[in-house]
Amino acid sequence: MNASHDKGNAMREMLLEICERYKMKLLEQVPLSEHTSFHIGGHADYWIEVNDKEGLSCLLKLFSETSTSFFVMGRGTNILAADDGFRGVILHLGEHFAVNEFREQNAGSKPTLCLGAASTLVKAAKIAEEHSLTGMEGLSGIPGSVGGALYMNAGAYGYEMRQIVTECEYMTYDGELHTAAADALGLAYRHSRFMEEPAVILSVTVELERGEKSEITAKMQDFLKRRNDKQPLNFPSAGSTFKRPGENAYASRLIDECGLKGLTFGGAQVSEKHAGFVINRSGATCEDVTALCRQVREKVKSETGYVLELEPVLLGDVKWESE
Ligand SMILES: Cc1cc2nc3c(=O)[nH]c(=O)nc-3n(C[C@H](O)[C@H](O)[C@H](O)COP(=O)(O)OP(=O)(O)OC[C@H]3O[C@@H](n4cnc5c(N)ncnc54)[C@H](O)[C@@H]3O)c2cc1C
Repeated sequence: MNASHDKGNAMREMLLEICERYKMKLLEQVPLSEHTSFHIGGHADYWIEVNDKEGLSCLLKLFSETSTSFFVMGRGTNILAADDGFRGVILHLGEHFAVNEFREQNAGSKPTLCLGAASTLVKAAKIAEEHSLTGMEGLSGIPGSVGGALYMNAGAYGYEMRQIVTECEYMTYDGELHTAAADALGLAYRHSRFMEEPAVILSVTVELERGEKSEITAKMQDFLKRRNDKQPLNFPSAGSTFKRPGENAYASRLIDECGLKGLTFGGAQVSEKHAGFVINRSGATCEDVTALCRQVREKVKSETGYVLELEPVLLGDVKWESE
């Protein structure tokens, strides 16, 4: 027995004790490939389904005292996980944090929805539609959670989280609860303040407008159809692989113009249907994806001068050099 083995055992005991006390599920050796839309990634040491604010606070305090690595995972739709997994704890918000609430407004004020961070955006947009509220139609086909969508300031078809968010409740890594107004969240293109000041997002309040239900439904259906027609949804991916490199520059267009559609490395491929997506064509590893992305980045840079940056968040020891 060595010291690190003893330390590992002590951590396991503490996690078991906290999870039992707050009735939270603890799993060990969890394959990240089963929890990411890319279907890539080795095992995480631990996976905790967090269903209690106090329990979360207790875990965060333990991690900070013991310098334990952890990662907050939503629905894993914007993650590229390392082939050798993650030596630490994945925190995944469970059903307790997936409750959505429609708040009746006073005369003159706008209708709001308080969305649980673990709810899906799809479900949130559906609730808006049911209440004839407009403002979320373009977000309705994004496959992530509300928490992940705020963290990434997700958006599509001219809609973005930052246009509708008014407030957010979150827990900082010292285990303390906070509320912040939208203008304090640093929301910009695929950016939020949480990228520099990490915290666990617990709920998000959005303000919408009253609309015509049939129009809202028609818009949602149109956006879904556009996704189905244009995106390679029959292959695992993490959505757009690269961020927009400039105000009027689109990674997919640049990649297409460089003739890179169909470029393949191992099991990873630049989608033939949509150049902005790297897909897991067949048993791709994280190394396949990063090797392919390096080739794409080099060619686009040499031919157009634009430097592409990865959009998915890297989990574990992923070898990727930002330029
Ligand atoms: C087919 C496909 C299409 C897509 N289309 C779009 C699109 O049109 N527009 C778009 O913007 N994105 C798109 N995406 C990407 C992705 O769905 C979004 O970025 C989504 O918002 C990520 O949410 P998630 O819950 O899956 O987050 P995850 O992928 O699990 O995590 C992403 C980041 O958010 C953090 N995070 C997640 N939850 C929390 C929380 N509660 N508290 C703190 N941090 C948290 C994670 O730590 C991580 O850093 C697409 C993905 C796929 C696979």
